[in-house]
Formats: sequence, C-alpha cells, structure tokens
Amino acid sequence: MASTMKDAILRGRKTVETVVEGGRRRVENVVEGGLNTVETVVEAGLDTVETVVVRGRKKVESAVSLGRKTVEKTLLHGHSTMRAAVLHGRQDIRIESVPVPKAAPGELIVSVGAALTCGTDLKVFRRGYHARMIVPPALFGHELAGTVVEAGDGVTEFAPGDRVVALNSAPCGQCYFCARGQENLCDDLLFNNGAYAEFIRIPARIVAKNTLRVPGHVPLEHAALTEPLACAVHGFQDSNPRQGDIVAVIGGGPLGLMILHVAALAGYETTALVRLDGQAEAARQLGATHVVQTSSISKAIRETRALTPNDRGVDIAIEAVGVPEAWQEAVELVRKGGTVNFFGGCATGTHVTLDTNRIHYSDITLRATFHHTPALCRKALELIASGRFQAGAFITGHAHLYELNRVFEKLMKRSTEIKTAIVP
Ligand SMILES: [Zn+2]
Ligand SMILES: [Zn+2]
Repeated sequence: MASTMKDAILRGRKTVETVVEGGRRRVENVVEGGLNTVETVVEAGLDTVETVVVRGRKKVESAVSLGRKTVEKTLLHGHSTMRAAVLHGRQDIRIESVPVPKAAPGELIVSVGAALTCGTDLKVFRRGYHARMIVPPALFGHELAGTVVEAGDGVTEFAPGDRVVALNSAPCGQCYFCARGQENLCDDLLFNNGAYAEFIRIPARIVAKNTLRVPGHVPLEHAALTEPLACAVHGFQDSNPRQGDIVAVIGGGPLGLMILHVAALAGYETTALVRLDGQAEAARQLGATHVVQTSSISKAIRETRALTPNDRGVDIAIEAVGVPEAWQEAVELVRKGGTVNFFGGCATGTHVTLDTNRIHYSDITLRATFHHTPALCRKALELIASGRFQAGAFITGHAHLYELNRVFEKLMKRSTEIKTAIVP
C-alpha cells in the first residue's frame, strides 16, 4: 500500500493534493515521497501540512495524529529528543539524538525549515574545526530559516508561528569597532551553530540584533541565503564601485557567484573567472557580461584584460576563492588606480607575495572584506524578498539530514553543486 501510494504521489501534484486531504497515513507517505513532493504539498496551501513538514519527517506522524499544539508541547517539555548533526572532527559528522533545546530568557527555539551548506562548513568538515566559529564536538551548520516554536521570557518581537531567518552571529554593540559601525570586526562577535538539526536555539543577542521576519511570499530556503548574501553585498560595497566600472570576480563558488549576481543586478559590466562548466553556466544565468573559463591563471589574466579597452584591466577585481594564487591573480587583473578585494579567506598561516612596484606605481587599492553587519543582513533579505535576486539558482540540491556526510563528501570533490538545502 505504502509503495503504491508513494508511486502515486511521485506521479504528480493533483494526486498529492488528493492524498494529503485523505488523512494521516497518507501525509506520512507524502513526506517519504521526497522533498519535491513536500513542496508541492506546501504550495497546495494546506497550512497544517506546512507546519508539520517544517517539523521534520519523524515528527509528521505525531504532529498529524496529536495535533500541532500538543506536539509542540511534547517537544518543548523535554519529553522528546531531536536529531541533530554533531561534528566530531575531520570528516566526521554524526546524526545524534540530543535534547530539544529550551528557550532561556531572550532566546528563541526555531524549528529549522531549511539549512544550507556553505563553503565555510565545507572547510570545517575538511579540517575538523574553525578557530573562531566552531570547536568539536559541536552542533554544526549556520545558514538557516525556520519557524519559531518557543519564545523565552522577555521576547516581544517574535512569537511561536513566526517565520524567521536567524543569522549566524551578532555583534556586541559596545566595543570600539561596534561604536565605529564596523560591527563585522566586533571584538566579541557571538557565533551560533546548530542549523543541521530539527530545532536550533537562537541566543538572546542574535534574537535582539540579527533575527529577521521572513515575508510570507519568500520560501524559507531562500531566506536562509541571507547570511552569505549579506557577506556578498558587503564585499561588493566595500570595493567602492562607481557607475561604469567593470567588475571581475574570481571564483565560481557560492560566494563568487553571489557577488557576481549582486554586481550584475546593480547594473555593472562583469567578468566571471571560473574553472568548471557548471560554474560558467551559472555565471551566465546570473547575469555575467563575460565569462572567462580556464584553469590557467596567466590565460585568465590575459583574457580578462583583453575584454577591457586597450587591455588596461578591470576597475575592480574581487577574489572569492581563498587561495594565495588567486589573491596574486586579482592584483594582475586591475587597471592603474583599480581596487582589489581579497574577499576569500585563506587557510591560517598563509602568506602571499605581491609585486610592490605594481601596487605602488599603479596606485592600486587593496581591501579585504570580512563577514557582515546587522544593516547588511537586512539589506540582503530585502534583496531576496524583492524577487530580483535569483535565490533559486543558488540552491542546486536538497537532502535529508541523514545524508549530510554524503553531501559534504560530494562538495569536496569540487562538484558544481552551489548549495544544498538540508531539510531535517
Ligand atoms: Zn555561510
Ligand atoms: Zn562589538
């Protein structure tokens, strides 16, 4: 019966709707049918189903049989555990059963609707730690959006049922850097991890400063792009673009493509420097004026300069790979008086060798943008909500929490996946 039902569901939307309306056992099958089907269900406008689905596969059954309120109560009073990805070290993620967190004063508990894979997480997976952000064993993942299920005492801005995107960090607001509006450099930046889970606790400071309501028309998985997009917008703005500038972006990873898209949406002529076919295709779709596809750095420099008047070089070169060769390459791409932004962070202890004559006599500005600020996060979500930003193009796959190790192993092999939405 179940497999027949699944087949039926997979055949198309009409069937799904009928099935969902049919009742409890069928909802379970719908969810088992896979994410596409779930989306269809949600699109069908069945509010209850949406709530249920957001809660995750295992909870669907109980949610439907017990009714939403009861399930929430059960979960939040410690009668239940949740599944969460725990990073134990290099390439060692385990899906474990851990207690559902409880909201302390000022905190929120959010039921994760979607958590996105990110280059930073991939680095952490490969190395087993991140000096500033995560030390194992630890809950893992930081790009998420979901639905509030519990609000701690004193929280007035949010209530259960609100759809939110909670950022991965929040500045202190008190230190020298915060006072100067450079909150990305805050001496006491508070980071939060644990997005690859059914529920996540949002610390009070992030609730107060960096949790944003998601407009009803924006899918949660799109809203989860707020964090990386805030970084991309930051990198672009920090490069001080002027109308008419030609902007080159090195790197076809998620952030490189995002910066490229941001520049293209702002009306700039852009050149994307990428290696893989899939990246070239994505760059074109996201508005690149030119695409230079090669794995040879000298060829990339030659071809990129050839696309500018008299081979003079681009006005702005943004490096979004995070390797020394690409940092050096960026310096060779710009014209006299141009700006280079070393956006990609290299491994700790990395040094680069730069041609001082070129930098000095060509009057080149070197910048390096890190992270985001609360204002940029708001700007990023607005851009996503505007519909101009092609959020869907950045999410190239969907996977269940249990598939997380496999997803990262695949990303390590330099596949052309941009981001995978992990649905608990
Ligand atoms: Zn990220
Ligand atoms: Zn601060």
